[in-house]
Amino acid sequence: MLTKLPSQSLARQRAFFASGKTRDVDFRIVQLKKLKEGIRKYEPEIMAALYDDLRKPPFESYASEIGILYTEIDHAIRNIRSWARSRRVATPLIHFLSRSRIDQQPYGVVLIISPWNYPFQLAMAPLIGAIAAGNCVLIKPSELSPATASIIDKMIREIFPSDYISVFQGEAEATQTLLEEKFDYIFFTGSTAVGRIIMTAAALHLTPVTLELGGKSPCIVHEDARLNYGAKRIAWGKFFNAGQTCIAPDYVLLHRKIKERFVEKMTGMILAFYGENPMKSPDYARIINARHFDRLIRFLKTGRMISGGDYHREELYISPTMIDQVTPDDPVMQEEIFGPILPIIEYDEIDEAIAFVNQRPRPLALYCFSESVKIQDKVLGETSSGGGCINDTVSHVGSQELPFGGIGDSGMGAYHGKPGFDTFSHQRGILIRSNLVDMPLRYPPYRDRVSLLKLLFRIIR
Ligand code: NAD
Repeated sequence: MLTKLPSQSLARQRAFFASGKTRDVDFRIVQLKKLKEGIRKYEPEIMAALYDDLRKPPFESYASEIGILYTEIDHAIRNIRSWARSRRVATPLIHFLSRSRIDQQPYGVVLIISPWNYPFQLAMAPLIGAIAAGNCVLIKPSELSPATASIIDKMIREIFPSDYISVFQGEAEATQTLLEEKFDYIFFTGSTAVGRIIMTAAALHLTPVTLELGGKSPCIVHEDARLNYGAKRIAWGKFFNAGQTCIAPDYVLLHRKIKERFVEKMTGMILAFYGENPMKSPDYARIINARHFDRLIRFLKTGRMISGGDYHREELYISPTMIDQVTPDDPVMQEEIFGPILPIIEYDEIDEAIAFVNQRPRPLALYCFSESVKIQDKVLGETSSGGGCINDTVSHVGSQELPFGGIGDSGMGAYHGKPGFDTFSHQRGILIRSNLVDMPLRYPPYRDRVSLLKLLFRIIR
C-alpha cells in the first residue's frame, strides 16, 4: 500500500508549527498527558496487534513496548520545564557588559521512521522527545508490522490533530516519497544499509539526522564470570522477542576454560524459560516474516549446532539455538543475526576478545561478564560501542538517565530522557549586548590597532 502524501499535509504542519502553539511548554505537557492516556486506552489493541505481527508474548509487549513509554512520558513531564529553560552562561571578558544564554528551540516538522521489531515503542519513544521539545511530527511506521502500524495510525488520529502529529503508512517507496520533502529533522531507526539511504536523502536538503541503527553486539564472557546469573541474563537478552532486538547479544566471546559450564547453564536456562518445546511456549515470539525466516535458516548451515536448531516455516518459528565452530567468514558472523541464533567463539586471553571486537564495525551495544573490575574497565576502556552493560544485557535501554544510540556503523545521535529532548532541540546561542557603552576598538578604520588588540587578547586569556 502506498499512501500519497498530500503536500498540503506537510504545509499544514508547517503552518501549525508557525502558529507558535508548540512553543508553549504547558501545551507540550498537555500533549504528553494525552499521549499517555491514549496509549492506556489502546493498550489491549496494541498488545493484540503486537501478537498479530510477531506473536509477541503479552509480558514482553507490556515491558518493552508500553510500560517503558509510560516511564519515559512521566520522566519528560517531570523535567520538561527545566530542560526547556534558557540557560545563562558566562560571557568572555572581551564582550564586556554583555550577557549570554542558550535557548532550546524546536526544529519544526520532524520525520520519525521506525522499524518492525519493537514497532510501537520505536515509533512512540522518539515521538515523546519530539513533543517535549515542541515539534510537529510525521511518523512513518514499518510496513512489515502492519497490525501495529494501523493501531498507531488510529490512535494518533484520535489523540492529535493531523496538523500537529500525523502518521503516513506505506512501503519503502512511501518513505522514499517522504524523503523528497524537506523536513527540519529526521529520526530514523532501522538497518545500517537503509540508514545510509536516509542520510544521503537528508543531505540533499541539509536536514540533520539521528540514525539508530543495528550491528553485531558482542557479549564477552570472561573466565571469572558468575555464570548462574550470567547465563540467565544472556539467554533472556538474546531470546527476548526471538532475538529480534537491536541490542540483543549477537554473539558470545567466551573464555575457553568455561565453555562446558557456560553451555550447560545456557541450555538449562533455555529449558527453564521455554520448556522442552519452545514452539508451544506462550513466552516465545515468532520471526517477523518468511524472508527473515529464510535469511536466518541460512545461518544454520555453518558451524556446529550445540542446542536448538529446530524450525517450522509455516509457524515462522526458530527455536533458541546455540552454535559453535564458526569462523569470522561464515555468513552468521558477517551480518547482524537479528534472530534466536547465538554463535559462541572461544578465546584464551581477554586481549584476543578485545581485538576481535575492535576489528569489526563499532557495535550498538557491548556486554561484558566478569567479576573483576580490572577486566570490566579494560574491556570498556579498550573498546567502543553505542552503549552496553556490565554483567547484564539489554537493560541499559530502559534507563531515562542513559543516552541511547549508536556510534559509527551503529548510528549517530541518541535519545531517551534528556538526551531525547536535546536531540529534538536546536541549541541557540544568544549574546545580549548592553547599550551603556560602545567600545570603538572593533570598528574600522582599524589604523595601527593590531598591537593593542594583541595586548587585549593576552590580558583576557
Ligand atoms: P529497515 O532499515 O529495513 O527499515 C526501517 C524503516 O525504513 C521502515 O519503516 C521501512 O519502511 C523503511 N525503509 C526500508 N527500506 C527503505 C528504503 N530503501 N528507502 C527508504 N526507506 C526504507 O529496518 P528493519 O528491518 O525494519 O529493522 C531491523 C533493523 O533495525 C536492524 O538492523 C536493527 O538492528 C535495527 N534497529 C535498530 C534499533 C536502534 O535503536 N538502534 C532499534 C530497532 C532496530
